[in-house]
Parts: sequence; structure tokens; C-alpha cells
Amino acid sequence: MKERYYPFENEPLPYDYAALEPYIDTETMHFHHDKHLQTYVDNLNAALSDSEELKKLSLEQLLSHPDELPEQKRAAIINNGGGVFNHSFYFEGLEKCEMCKPCGELAKAFDAAFGGFEAFCDIFKKAALGVFGSGYAWLVADGETLKIITTPNQNTPLADGYKPVLCIDVWEHAYYLKNKNLRAAYVDNWFHVVNWNRAEMLLLQR
Ligand code: MN
Repeated sequence: MKERYYPFENEPLPYDYAALEPYIDTETMHFHHDKHLQTYVDNLNAALSDSEELKKLSLEQLLSHPDELPEQKRAAIINNGGGVFNHSFYFEGLEKCEMCKPCGELAKAFDAAFGGFEAFCDIFKKAALGVFGSGYAWLVADGETLKIITTPNQNTPLADGYKPVLCIDVWEHAYYLKNKNLRAAYVDNWFHVVNWNRAEMLLLQR
């Protein structure tokens, strides 16, 4: 993702709100992007507004070394900065379903790391369903190694030194309007609208 600095903005979705139908519904996309993400953007800007030092740092710099943040700002930046990063990463990682399976280097990486694309999907889905409460499941690069991890709340993999490749938001607000309590149905739908080309590009950049 491109470097972003204060004042942060809620950047438009890179596709139409209805683009992910029927897998992710238009109303959810409106609420998720225009309301939930907007709140994280506003609260992050508020948290940084009186600190000239923190305003100089990029979003990734703010989130990569949380222990170095001033204590009285730390929780607000982890929660709201993480909310901005994670949501932007999530939205940018989706697209209208055109290529529903990875190919090329990403497919090879799934073969090597997980024993194939189907095996990857099984493990990733279990991780997503295993998040207790709110959080995310991620495919990350740990150096040359691909890993599936989860983060609670709005914590990011950046704080652990991982390079994110793919994520699914499993907060209930990501699926409750359409799927109600059925997170598994949402995860199954999500696999249909993953932007595998972007994941491959991020993988190759690691
Ligand atoms: Mn969300």
C-alpha cells in the first residue's frame, strides 16, 4: 500500500459498492466503508492532532513499533491506526470476482507452504472462524516463510514484523447485515471476491 500520513482520509473504495454482489452486499459495503472506517480515520486524526512528532510518521511507521509510541497515545493509535490500516488493506484486497483462484507465483507459494490452494483455504477458514470475538485472519510473509495468523481487535501484523499479503475482517460488522451470526457463510463468500493478483503482487514484493 502507498505511504499515508496525517491528516488521514477515508479514501474511496477502488470499486463500486455493489461490485462484490452477491458475495458481499452493497449495504454492508456502505456501512463498513463510510461509517466504520470513517470513525477510525476521524479518531486517528484526533489522537495525532496535538503531536507534531507523531504527525511526521507514516501509518505503517506508527503501527510497526507500538512500544515506542507515547504511553498516553498508544492505545488510541493501535486501535484507530490499526482500524485505518486493516480496513484499507481489507478493502483493497477485494475485487469483483473474475479470477476466483490464484495462479502464477501465488499458486506455487500455496503449493509449497500449504500443500495447495484448497489446503490453504481450509487452514485460512479455520483461522478466520477461530478468532474469538473481533479481529482478522491474515496471510503474512515472515521473511521467506508464508504464515497464517490472526490478530485481535484492530491489532496489525506490522507490530510483529510481518508483511501482510491478505486479510479477512471477521468483526461482525463485516457480515452481520447479510449473514447474521453465520461467520462461516461470510468466509465462504469472501473467497469468491479476493483480489488474488494483488496478493501475488504483495507476495513478490516481500
Ligand atoms: Mn471492519
